[in-house]
Amino acid sequence: MAKTKQFKTESKKLLHLMTHSIYTQKEIFLRELISNASDAIDKRHFLSLTDSSIPPVDYEIWLTPDEKGRTLVIADNGIGFTEEELINNLGTIAQSGSKAFLEKIEQNDVDLIGQFGVGFYSAFMVAETVTVETRSPFAETGYRWKSNGESSYTIEEIDRTDLGTTIILNLRADDEENEEDFSQYTKTYSLKSLVKKYSDYVRYPICMMVTKTEDKKEVEEKEVLNQMIPIWKKQKSEITDEEMSTFYKHQFNDYDEPLKVIHTNVEGMLTYTALLFIPEKAPYDFYSEKYEKGLQLYSKGVFIQDKNKDLLPDYFKFVKGLVDSADISLNISRELLQQNQQVKKIASHLEKKIKSELESMLAQDREKYLKFYESYKTTLKYGIYESFGLNKEKLQDLILFKTSKRDDYITFKEYVDDKPTDQNAIYYATGKSKGSILKLPQMDVMREKEIEVLLLTDEIDEFMIQVMQTYGDVPFKSIQQADTDLVDETKKEDLKTKEKENKDILKAIKKALKDKVKDVKLSYRLKESAVCLVSGEGISMEMEKILKQMPNAANVHADKILEINPDHDLFTALKKVYEKDEQKIDDYASILYHQALLIEGYPIEDPTEFSNHLVQLMIDSSK
Ligand code: ADP
Repeated sequence: MAKTKQFKTESKKLLHLMTHSIYTQKEIFLRELISNASDAIDKRHFLSLTDSSIPPVDYEIWLTPDEKGRTLVIADNGIGFTEEELINNLGTIAQSGSKAFLEKIEQNDVDLIGQFGVGFYSAFMVAETVTVETRSPFAETGYRWKSNGESSYTIEEIDRTDLGTTIILNLRADDEENEEDFSQYTKTYSLKSLVKKYSDYVRYPICMMVTKTEDKKEVEEKEVLNQMIPIWKKQKSEITDEEMSTFYKHQFNDYDEPLKVIHTNVEGMLTYTALLFIPEKAPYDFYSEKYEKGLQLYSKGVFIQDKNKDLLPDYFKFVKGLVDSADISLNISRELLQQNQQVKKIASHLEKKIKSELESMLAQDREKYLKFYESYKTTLKYGIYESFGLNKEKLQDLILFKTSKRDDYITFKEYVDDKPTDQNAIYYATGKSKGSILKLPQMDVMREKEIEVLLLTDEIDEFMIQVMQTYGDVPFKSIQQADTDLVDETKKEDLKTKEKENKDILKAIKKALKDKVKDVKLSYRLKESAVCLVSGEGISMEMEKILKQMPNAANVHADKILEINPDHDLFTALKKVYEKDEQKIDDYASILYHQALLIEGYPIEDPTEFSNHLVQLMIDSSK
């Protein structure tokens, strides 16, 4: 007895789009089904390497057209489906390509269909019913799944012993009004040209099965349609851009063109071909823990592994692609693969190759590099940070920052080359945005001295800089940290005298602020602004903010130093208040401190106290 089941909501949406589709590229259903068949054979082949109960066979994909019956059958001897897999894989959209496709469609971004891996459901663009007969090595029996792509499907048990899947498409009636000719999919010449167009590089033979009557006897003829030369084994000059882009989009589930293709053949001690792609945009799950880095691994064109993690360092985890090497044995287990010296050597080659390709992109096509950088800067920066600087030399020249002086990004090298020779540091400032950094009181002196400041606006930035410490032999210095190397000798003396003269009031302010600040000082760096907070040694205030958001980070603490502008009218006013009434300075100190906190982007610790002090101040000033 067949059981009837409902499709999941998302699947229904996609099915509706497929069955009522007005797209011109309906023919891609064949590519999708052949590619599924090829994946299923990969899976079976892979299991057969380690599981003796799953015998390897001559793997093939069969196309059987029937003009009279208006059917097309696509069959494979791959892994098949269990009942559960039929329900989970064909009743629900599980696959990222289809999901992304649905999202695009919902944004009215139509006619993208040919670019997507839209999968099994595309069969409903051409068929009014789809029947799947299958047998998995993990099931006790075979199953038949059947649907007309409306809201439900049926499943029943069938007798079947051969592992694999047979998909029977009952083609739709031709629709002359809309110039829809579905009978073409029962014609051998159309099928041949579609296989050539979309599936020529599929690794397993795609065989056309035609029954002919000869001498009144029915004979079955078999013709292999595809060349089976993987695209990466072709001469570079023989691959068209379109071919490469279709391969990429389909193989790696992207709907944009790749930003960069790296195709490299290495021969000698180590022989391999690598075909690598950098997607223009990071995949939607790139920054989640679910994202898995890795390259596909093949041995002489035969698939071994889908995501080999050892081929890519974490900081290049955005690279997609594959490696095909005759030096890697087909029958190698995953554990051994991990220790495999060849894999390690290839990984090290690839790392250098990717790095040099990125460097030349940066040198020759800045615009393109910026696209790349916008997508993956955090990954590169994190690469320097997490290695405690070990990868600094490898990655530092791929890092760019905006600066206080220009809107464009520059490299550390460009900063160092441009700076005056007597400037002995690379100055940086941290904040939420360019705008907020430029408004920092600490920028006053940098503007006056016309010193360029790197703008660190990503959370990871300062952590990375702290790990780097220097670029070449030039140290990094935060303009938000206590340091007086920008003060001229005469000014230093002047500041010292002023601090001495105002010793008592500074002490009183410090006392009022208790353990909130480590010190209260007169500032050399403020021009327009009255006060600012700077960090002492150790972790900076920006880092404190980020670390405090993390779990188990309650103990982090940045030393804060309150700096007051001695030339500001406010300081004169403070002095007057202090002379009149020493007690009053407590309220003023609190207001000053809170104001500085606000400028630094901190929340006010006690808003009521702050507000009460302000109110009191207003009342006093009217007296
Ligand atoms: P995908 O892009 O993941 O292949 P599909 O909708 O085309 O998405 O297929 C859904 C899932 O169904 C596949 O991921 C695979 O697990 C399974 N599947 C599809 N076709 C076959 C097949 N011929 N043999 C075995 N499993 C298949």
